[in-house]
Order: sequence, then C-alpha cells, then structure tokens
Amino acid sequence: MSVSQYFDTMDYGPAPESDTDARAWLARHSDGFGHFINGAFTPATAGSLFDTNEPATGKPLARITQGTQADVDAAVAAARAAQENWFAIGGHARARHLYALARMVQRHARLFAVVEALDNGKPIRETRDIDVPLVARHFYHHAGWAQLQEREFADQVPVGVIGQIVPWNFPLLMLAWKIAPALALGNTVVLKPAEFTPLSALLFAELAAQAGLPAGVLNVVTGDGATGAAIVAHPDVNKIAFTGSTDVGRLIREKTAGSGKSLTLELGGKSPFIVFDDADIDAAIEGVVDAIWFNQGQVCCAGARLLVQEGIAQDFYARLKRRMGMLRAGTPLDKTIDIGSLIAPSQHERVRKLVEIGVKEGATCYQPDISMPVGGSYFPPTLLTNVHPASTVASEEIFGPVLVAMTFRTHDEALAIANNSRYGLAASVWSETIGLALAVAPALKAGVVWINSTNLFDAGVGFGGVRESGFGREGGREGCYEYLKPRAWAKRVARSAAVKPVAAIVDSVAASARLPLVDRTAKLYVGGKQARSDGEQSLGIFGANGKLAGEVGLGNRKDIRNAVAAAHAAASWSATTPHRRAQALYYLAENLSARAEEFAARLVELTGVSADAASNEVEQSISRLFAYGAWADKYEGAVHVPPMRGVALAMVEPIGVVGVVCPDESPLLAFVSLVAPLLAMGNRVVIVPSSRHALIATDFYQVLETSDLPGGVINIVTGAAATLLPTLAEHDDVDALWTFGDAALSATTERLSTGNLKRTLVDYGLATDWNDALSAEGPAWLRHATQIKNVWVPYGE
Ligand code: NDP
Repeated sequence: MSVSQYFDTMDYGPAPESDTDARAWLARHSDGFGHFINGAFTPATAGSLFDTNEPATGKPLARITQGTQADVDAAVAAARAAQENWFAIGGHARARHLYALARMVQRHARLFAVVEALDNGKPIRETRDIDVPLVARHFYHHAGWAQLQEREFADQVPVGVIGQIVPWNFPLLMLAWKIAPALALGNTVVLKPAEFTPLSALLFAELAAQAGLPAGVLNVVTGDGATGAAIVAHPDVNKIAFTGSTDVGRLIREKTAGSGKSLTLELGGKSPFIVFDDADIDAAIEGVVDAIWFNQGQVCCAGARLLVQEGIAQDFYARLKRRMGMLRAGTPLDKTIDIGSLIAPSQHERVRKLVEIGVKEGATCYQPDISMPVGGSYFPPTLLTNVHPASTVASEEIFGPVLVAMTFRTHDEALAIANNSRYGLAASVWSETIGLALAVAPALKAGVVWINSTNLFDAGVGFGGVRESGFGREGGREGCYEYLKPRAWAKRVARSAAVKPVAAIVDSVAASARLPLVDRTAKLYVGGKQARSDGEQSLGIFGANGKLAGEVGLGNRKDIRNAVAAAHAAASWSATTPHRRAQALYYLAENLSARAEEFAARLVELTGVSADAASNEVEQSISRLFAYGAWADKYEGAVHVPPMRGVALAMVEPIGVVGVVCPDESPLLAFVSLVAPLLAMGNRVVIVPSSRHALIATDFYQVLETSDLPGGVINIVTGAAATLLPTLAEHDDVDALWTFGDAALSATTERLSTGNLKRTLVDYGLATDWNDALSAEGPAWLRHATQIKNVWVPYGE
C-alpha cells in the first residue's frame, strides 16, 4: 500500500524493527554456541548440536549444544570454586557488579529485545517495552540488596551454588528474576535456559563477562530436560530454583526429596479475572487484552478465566469481541502488532486440541475475523463462552491466547468459582468500589492480586504462588530470603552427634499390653476435645528409667484425617486479629506457668534430665510462648511503591492447615517452639508429638482446655511418626508440613508432599538447639509460618 492509501484506510502500515545487529551476533556464532562455563564459551562440537528455531517462520536461527553430565559437572565445579570468593568480596563489590549488569542490559537493550523476539516469537513491542526494562530494573533493585546485605541480612548466609531452570515464555526476564537475587546475595549460579529459547541467556552471559563479572559466578548450560535433570540431581548444588510446568515442578520436588537442597517452584496457573458490575468496563476490556493476549497467553499468571457478573455479561462479551477484532497479529519484529507467534508447532497443537475439547464439552468459540500471518505457529485470539466451571478448559492451563468466560451472581459465588482451581498464582479484580475489591483480595487463593489492573510486575514486589502454582517468591525482600539461610541454622550438626540417646525403650502396643495397667490413658486431642483413637489402641510411654510412665492413644490414618477436618473447620482462627492471637498465646503461657512444677517433674521422669534442666525447659517454653505472643501483632507486611501511580500491599497471610511432626529432644520446648509461630500467624495445626515422650503433649491438653483457643486450632494425634506422617504429607487439605527428627522423616515429607505441592520445612536430621533463641525462635520461623500476598492497587483517575 502507498502512504496515501494508508491515509484513506487509517490502517497501520508495517513498522519493522531492524534485525541487523542480532543477525550479525548470530553470524559470529555460526559454528554453534557452546556452553558458558567459568567465564568463557566451551567449543561447540559437531554431533552435540541442535537447532533453535524462529517460531514466526520455523526457520533455524542458531545451533546450540546439548548439555551432558560432564558439562553440568564442569559448570557446578566452576560455580563452587567461585562461590566463596564471590561472597567474600562483600555486598558493596557485588552491588557494583550488579549495577554494571543493569547498565549493560540498558546499553544493549535493542539487541536483547530483537534477539528475544526472534527466538521466542513474541512482539518486539513487548520485549522492548516490558521484558528488557524489567530486566534492567531487576538488576538495579538487587544491586541495592547487595549493597545492604551486611546490614539487612546480617543473620543470614548465602545458600551456595544454585541450579536455575527457566522456561521459554520469558527467557530473559526469568533469567533476571533468578540470577539477580542469587548473585546479589553471594551465591553462584548454573542456569539452564529452555531448549526453545536459549539465545538471550547466551547473549547475556557473553556481555556479562565483558562487563567484568568474575569467571564461574554465572554459568549457562544449554540443553533439553535431561540437562535440567542433571542439574537437579547434582550433589554439589545447594538449591534448585525452577520456573515451568507443574508436572516438571512436581518431578523436581520428588527428585530433590531428602537431599537437603532447598527449592523454589514457580509453576502454572489458571488465574481468574473477576469483573464486578460496577467496574469501569472499558478499562476492564483493555485489562483482558493485557491479561490473556500479552505474550500470546503464554504467561503463567495470564488472566485465563474471565468471571463476569451476570448482569453485565452480554454487554461485556459484545464489547470484548469488538476489541478482539482490532487486535493485530503479525511478524514479531513489526512494532505495530499485538499478537506474535506461539513458541512452537507442538504448543500450537496443544492449544488447538484444548480449544477443540472445550467446544466438545459445550463451549461456544469465538475468533475474530482478523488477518493471521501464514507459516509459523500463529493462533488467533480466542474467546470461549458458555463454559462450565468444571470443564477441561476452565481447569487446565492452556498457555495460549484462549480466554474462557463464565458468569457469577454474587460476590460469594465469584470467590467460590475463582478459588475452584488447583492453582493459586494470581488474580485480577475489577470494581470501582475499593472496599469491595479490598475485601475480595484477601479471600482469593493467590500469591498476587491486581486490583483494576493486570500483569504488573516489579523487582521490589514479590511474585509467586500457592497450591499447585508452587512455593517461594521472586522479587522484593521476600525473594531475597529464598537465596539465604539463617546463619544459626547453617551451624546445625547431625542429631545423632548433638543429642544424647535416650535409654532404649520398647514402645510397641504388644509390650505395653504385657505390663500392669496404669490408670490413666490419654486420648487424642481433636477439635478442642479429647477423642478416643480410631483403632482403640494405646501406646506405652516409658520413662528414662525404663519403667512405664503412662499410655497414650495410638493414632492412625483416620485420626489424622479427623484432625485435619477439625483444623479445616477452625478457619475463623486465620481471620482473627493479631491482637486476639497474641492474647491466646500469652494465656497459654500463663496456664503453662501455673503447672510449671508438674511439667518439670514429667520432663525429669521421661527424659532423665536434672530437675534444674527440666525447670529451665519449662521456663524457656513459657518465654517462647511470650515471644510469639509478642510477634503476633508485630510481624507485619509492607507497602511497596513500585514505579507506577499506586501501591502494592505485601500482606502477611497464614498458610492454612499445617502438619507438625516433633523431634524427641527437648520434648516440651520443641513442641512449643514449633506450634507457637504457626498459631501466632493464624495457622491451624495438626501435631504429632514425639512418640517417645508423648505424655508431655498429652499433659498439655489441660493447658489447652483452660485456654481460650477455639476448638480445632490445635489438634494432637499421638502415635508413631513414621506411620502418621505419610497421611499428613499426602493429605490435600494440609497446606504445609513441618517435620523435625529423623532424616528419613524429612525425605518422606518432601517426597510425599507433591500431590498438592505443600510447603515443607524439615531439618534433614540436623539438630536444632531449642534453647538457643537465635536458632529456635523468631522471624526465620515466622517466614515459614506465613506467605506473602502482594495486592497491587493503582490509583488516580
Ligand atoms: P517445562 O516445565 O517442561 O520446562 C521448563 C524448563 O524445565 C525448561 O528449561 C525445560 O527444559 C526444563 N525441564 C524439562 N524437563 C525437566 C526435568 N525433568 N528436570 C529438570 N528440568 C526440566 O515446560 P515446557 O516448556 O515443556 O512446557 C510444557 C507446558 O508447561 C506448556 O505447554 C505450558 O502449559 C506449561 N508451562 C508453564 C510455564 C509457567 O511459567 N507456568 C512455563 C513454561 C511452560 P526444555 O526446555 O529443554 O524442555
């Protein structure tokens, strides 16, 4: 068309971005890319190379090396060798390096934007205006955390060598989210980009070296899932940080179980986009465009489920369809397009099939009559209406430009549909009534909530999910903690070396049955009442002198299920005020204090410690209850001010129902130290006390019964941890599990917790000094007892 014709039609003409520099860079590596290990590229050897293609055309862009076990070994060795010195150079020196990386990204912003658009197929408008600026911001922000590390994280040390595995939807941005905090806080990294999109990571590594990043600090190993698996399995990697599909995340949880590797998982989502009838409809329509057609819907937090209040639904759909007709699909380097190519033919096929299933299940499919480029993996923007909340397309992550729409009548119904998902990554709420929006946000099961907005990100605001969307946060202070561990915990030694063995005892039912009856058999404590164990069996508890001290109920799977049900029913505890929770903890302390002598005597009897040591343990327990009473209304969130007109409220929320398995040592103090932070933060708990010293926990019933804790907030099931733990770990209504004791119990906890991807806190058989408040009390525990939800609230007209 001529310019005058464009004036007639008022249509956009093509506005192609130049790819000259990007192609020149690729030409310089035309022999193929090796890995980036220890500050240099390894040679690309024929036979181990595969192609990375341009999704928009299907043509090869570059040849990439398939990483082998030996490559991963070399990269991990380089990272290990570099780590000590990288931490030792100090926060300021690291801040300078991160600052240099931020400047480097800005200097080469256009090159990065073009390489990313070519390799991924997304519009240059997005890589240029969103991905690359956010990458630079991430390095600036984390240069700041490096600078402040010695002051702000004085009680923490780096985790060590971090294995990082990223997907193909935001290759460079995910790299930045992963490596900026890791490097800032003194860790070193082995990163594997996705097989489909390795180029921006290789470009970054090359330019980072030119910017002076020391050798070994950042290593990039390319390859497919097998290379990722080799990083996951490597014994010298201390942590895995993964973004990708829930299936692979689950596999990684299983593979790392019991290894001592820490883990963060940023997984899939099926985020609701809720439009109330008082919303600004035009703004909400634009919101939908950003929610589901940004990056062709290949976004983990895409607003993929549109929930519209019934009264406005038909009007909303009509306006949305009109807007869909104005979307422009085209070649990624055209600056005027909204929609580029999906990543690959396989993804195109997956999306096509899911839409087909949706229609078969009764949905009505709308696709606008817009021109779609020929070739590549283009998929038209798609709206599915008449979707049933239980249908496949309403529950499966489609990861494409497909919006499924449903209606609701009341706020409660909106919440019920929104939360009816195994995922919990993000949510978007549209209403001009701020009170309504702010009331809905805390009730949504999601790590991020955007009010009257969507897909907002900032380095200073944590991002991450709950449920099967994974655990851990990226960005902000909470993201920093994912790359640190408490200094006090780093000094823990194996329990076998730290704890004196208790005199050998026989704790089987059969053995207790042979002994003369003792006149008191404690029951279980479920739903605020003592309850007989389902199996009607009891467990003999022996004193340090080998004599029977009493009997407790022998809990089984059913008892655990009943206890979990009771904890669930006590949901109101999570909504109580911090003041009320503080009062409850102080009152527990008061009641324990009233029975101090009785508890001390029991400790002497069960563990054989001296009277002084026993009194000290009781006093420490009272002090610990006070400490968490104190924290209850002081461990609070933050108000972030990201670069926009508005705020992001980092809200500290309880996790929900938490299972706890207690160790044998310091039985009263350990029990209190594990339960109190969870209660203080509003969780409900199901506890399996030390089976060896279970009478301490059953004596505690009287403390609970004279307290004002609502029934179901604390549930105690006595019995053998090895038998009860699997039911807790596999229970879908248990949201987190803390296991302390034998190393095998830690491994079981992590391995069996993959069903609903519950958060776990385990000690791998390392002993905690429960008497030492620095290691056994305080914010490190409160962080595990909570999750941060970031609620974005833009303001202005
Ligand atoms: P994956 O989860 O398979 O890939 C993510 C990363 O993990 C890639 O680097 C991948 O390598 C690597 N990987 C694959 N298998 C293993 C393994 N066993 N151990 C360690 N690392 C491994 O996602 P896909 O790219 O295969 O996409 C599949 C589906 O997942 C998509 O259709 C989409 O629905 C969803 N997805 C969700 C994302 C999210 O952020 N929520 C991101 C990406 C995908 P390689 O690329 O070589 O396979």
